[in-house]
Amino acid sequence: MPAPAILNPVLDLLFVRSTVTSAEPITPRMRRLRVESDKLAGLDVRPGQQVRILVGGLTPRTYSVWRYEPEGAVELCVLDHPEGGPGAAWGRGVQVGEQVRLRKPEGTFTLCPDASHHVFVGEETASVAFGAMLDALPDGARVSGCVETETASDRLPLRHSDRLDWLTRGGTSLPDGVRRLAPERGGVAYVAGEARTVQAVKQLLVRELGWDRRSVLTKPFWAPGKKGLE
Ligand SMILES: Cc1cc2nc3c(=O)[nH]c(=O)nc-3n(C[C@H](O)[C@H](O)[C@H](O)COP(=O)(O)OP(=O)(O)OC[C@H]3O[C@@H](n4cnc5c(N)ncnc54)[C@H](O)[C@@H]3O)c2cc1C
Repeated sequence: MPAPAILNPVLDLLFVRSTVTSAEPITPRMRRLRVESDKLAGLDVRPGQQVRILVGGLTPRTYSVWRYEPEGAVELCVLDHPEGGPGAAWGRGVQVGEQVRLRKPEGTFTLCPDASHHVFVGEETASVAFGAMLDALPDGARVSGCVETETASDRLPLRHSDRLDWLTRGGTSLPDGVRRLAPERGGVAYVAGEARTVQAVKQLLVRELGWDRRSVLTKPFWAPGKKGLE
């Protein structure tokens, strides 16, 4: 349901009106959406940042920027998860030509380009942010990590994906995958996705593997039973 027209002046101050110009599956359960607006042109977008979108009337949800084009385009990948809240319904149903309101990219869960090595840990939704971060790294960058998906067909096409350990849900858990990987200290770890797993992986890196907690960047994206975590 669209937001009441009387709110347009306020919403236009807070959000950018943009148009969906492409919507197609990127995996069987994820849709890649491209939104464009002149007001999205020429921004300083850092890999890993996210946008806040009004997905149904006034309901906000947050999505990582998969690709940014300075001409004024942002691409997102939205998962159609089994519990299907308003965000998933929007991602599944939005059509080319529809208008959406979103805030400009923001956030501090971003690539640290000068790190000696980069460790990525998370699931499907986290892999969207990882995609942007991996794209920004040079060919010779030291990359490792564990990414868990429901099935192999849920894996996003990530740069350097051959350097990541891909796990399937129900098999080795993300914490056990990280334990097995035992990433060397001194780099930066990016840990995102389901909230409890993010916490468990951080604890493991810090307490078991001796990482400095300041080198472990975390971002919970969703939690069972909670709506629109951010
Ligand atoms: C910084 C940030 C970046 C994000 N980036 C992305 C992204 O790139 N792509 C993306 O798809 N999502 C991303 N998310 C998650 C997104 O904002 C929504 O939380 C998600 O789409 C669910 O919204 P919903 O309205 O469908 O469900 P909600 O109404 O928010 O939640 C309903 C219930 O669904 C369940 N649920 C929610 N998400 C999942 C899930 N992923 N898997 C299984 N069950 C779930 C939970 O039990 C929850 O209680 C991001 C979140 C944050 C904070």
